[in-house]
Amino acid sequence: MQKGISLFFGLLSASLTITAQTNTSQQKVAALLRQMTLDEKIGQMTQVTLGVVATAEDGVLDPEGLKKAVQEYKVGSILNVTNHALSVDQWHHVLTLIQDEAAKTRLKIPVIYGLDGIHGQTYTLDATLFPQNIGMAATRDPELAVAVTKVAAKELRASGVRWNFAPVLDCGRQPLWSRFPETYGEDVYIGTTMGAAVIKAYEEDGLKTPTAVASCMKHYLAYSASRTGKDRTPIYLPEIEMREYYLPQFRAAVKAGASTLMVNSGEINGTPVHASKYLLTDVLRKELGFQGVIVTDWEDIIRLHTRHNVAATPRAAVAMAINAGIDMSMVPMDFSFFILLKEAVQKGEVPVSRIDDAVRRILTLKEKLGLFENPYPETAATSNFGRPEYQILALQAAHEAMTLLKNDEAALPLRRNAKVLVAGPAARSISALNGCWSYTWQGKDERWYPADSKTILDALRDKLGAANVQTTAVAGFDSPANFDTTALKAAAAGADAIVLCLGENAYAESPGNTMDLALPDEQVALARAAAGTGKPVILVLTEGRPRLITSITPMMKGILLAYWSGRKTAEAISDVLLGDYNPDGRLPYSYPRSMGEMVLYDRKPTEEIREIFNSDMTMDGYRPLYPFGWGLSYTRWDYSELKLNTAKLTGGAKLTVQVTVTNSGSQDGKHTIELYTRQHYSSVTPSMRRLRAFKKIFLKAGESRQVSFTLDRNDLAFVNAQLKTVTEAGEVDIYIGDKKAVFSYQ
Ligand code: BGC
Repeated sequence: MQKGISLFFGLLSASLTITAQTNTSQQKVAALLRQMTLDEKIGQMTQVTLGVVATAEDGVLDPEGLKKAVQEYKVGSILNVTNHALSVDQWHHVLTLIQDEAAKTRLKIPVIYGLDGIHGQTYTLDATLFPQNIGMAATRDPELAVAVTKVAAKELRASGVRWNFAPVLDCGRQPLWSRFPETYGEDVYIGTTMGAAVIKAYEEDGLKTPTAVASCMKHYLAYSASRTGKDRTPIYLPEIEMREYYLPQFRAAVKAGASTLMVNSGEINGTPVHASKYLLTDVLRKELGFQGVIVTDWEDIIRLHTRHNVAATPRAAVAMAINAGIDMSMVPMDFSFFILLKEAVQKGEVPVSRIDDAVRRILTLKEKLGLFENPYPETAATSNFGRPEYQILALQAAHEAMTLLKNDEAALPLRRNAKVLVAGPAARSISALNGCWSYTWQGKDERWYPADSKTILDALRDKLGAANVQTTAVAGFDSPANFDTTALKAAAAGADAIVLCLGENAYAESPGNTMDLALPDEQVALARAAAGTGKPVILVLTEGRPRLITSITPMMKGILLAYWSGRKTAEAISDVLLGDYNPDGRLPYSYPRSMGEMVLYDRKPTEEIREIFNSDMTMDGYRPLYPFGWGLSYTRWDYSELKLNTAKLTGGAKLTVQVTVTNSGSQDGKHTIELYTRQHYSSVTPSMRRLRAFKKIFLKAGESRQVSFTLDRNDLAFVNAQLKTVTEAGEVDIYIGDKKAVFSYQ
């Protein structure tokens, strides 16, 4: 396809033409920038949603709307879908028309298209969906996360999209939050390790590889820390806490090469992050050294005026955000940003140098992504879509996410000839297995899921035979029949066991706000009815965040936490229930016992203490229903010979920690070894535990392996009262499994 855009080189002034072709990309960008008018520059900083250039019918562009956006307002970026996922062909059609329009502009600068591929490519029909980040964190397997990410990138790129608004690096320390499933859970080290690995995988080779996409670390900063747990509500956060728990993920992501960053829609200590020069320029640019593009979240500039009330006029909002350091505005429903920013520049409220800085970053991103050479969807890339091996990977990821919380009297695995009753709202649901960002934003509309998607009922029938699997469940999570306790009791008569599928249907962002983590009453009633039959009940939880199950836990023989694990969730559940997969997932958060027991694993000493009367106390202040790192296996794992290479670690030296791990049960399996530290005394109160390293291994039944870890002082560091990351001298405990060793750092 000759689109006449071997492009801007030809448009450079005569004196630049020859040198520009041999110049570095920086010089190319600088040369282009010099030719741009203010309108063209502001257009590059403007991002609109597809609906602005499309008709209400999905995948159909509105030629007039497109012309207006790209020619008149010179928009540099478009995002999103109008309602639901499109096919690869539809994406190619849409993106070709968009780039055709861009090719008609004076400088022929291509448009960069961005989408939310949150757990796989959300918005392409039949794309492979994997576990949400919370499930990936349970796998404790960064290599698996890399493999999964590469598939997501390939399917995005096959759809013609080169910018992904992922990964979410918000630390999941507030389980009420509706975006908890998008996080890597409560631990900083897991979020940092997984996040950095995923970013490197997206950005392969500095974006030179034709299967790479630009990542977008989000949502900077501390979006997950709202006081109420409701989406986009105020955050009050001391800087010491911000630096200890929320910033390290972004610091590591910058180092890993993240090209772009999206800003938290909320406010911290009364300052909306979109207006925070301190966070966007001083911390992010100067301290972390981030060079890439800073994009706003949805409508967040105008909201400085309309919602946060820190800007008295819409134009003041625009000036405030751009001066704070924003490069691109996800406007996204109109062209107000373009008009207001132009006025603000003309009135001297925003310096042209700030505009040039933003546009340079945006053009550099387009250049790195090869959009100037070829902005069109690549036909060859379509062979990377929907390959059979992705299904195998999706199953592996779902398998490794499965976290077995309880297994009394070896109730699991079920016998092969068992007669099973499958009940509960999630038993015949697809959306409750996938969750948010699944072919639609909310993930609830099952019409858009792949035709071969299986429910838990389907997957169990495949294994046990239809005749052996009865159900009282119907399609539609909220259908009243799913909560009919009388029907459940009657149907249980002929069953050897009940598989009860409870939890949460899909939700995303604010529509997923909840006032209470308690499992809804009707689900609790179902669990009580199931237990009342006297049959062993296996509870399967498909949920984005931990719903309280404390009152029903004692009645359950087995509990399997499946999270929202993507396209192969049902198959993975049935494999674990029948013993075809030995579970190895580990909780990425502390499963709360009650709303008043929200202590996290990296608790402080005074949280460990439960004072009963005067000095009468117990040390069980951390008493979640299941602790962080919990996860049962069908085999037995033993630890022995924990050894350190030295009892005294000095300066920048390395500490080697070795431990022997034995699979002493009768089943092969995977297992994650976790290494925690605890400093006895330090200038700010030390945590009772911090995860510093983990490794996942596979051992055959009866096999042993020596596993080693290397730590240095950076692994013991914490933020002190002066907000500096330091390591202080002192005694440190190391915990691996039930073993403990001590060393001193000097
Ligand atoms: C979400 C972002 C997302 C954006 C674009 C916002 O509502 O907060 O995470 O990237 O929409 O879809």
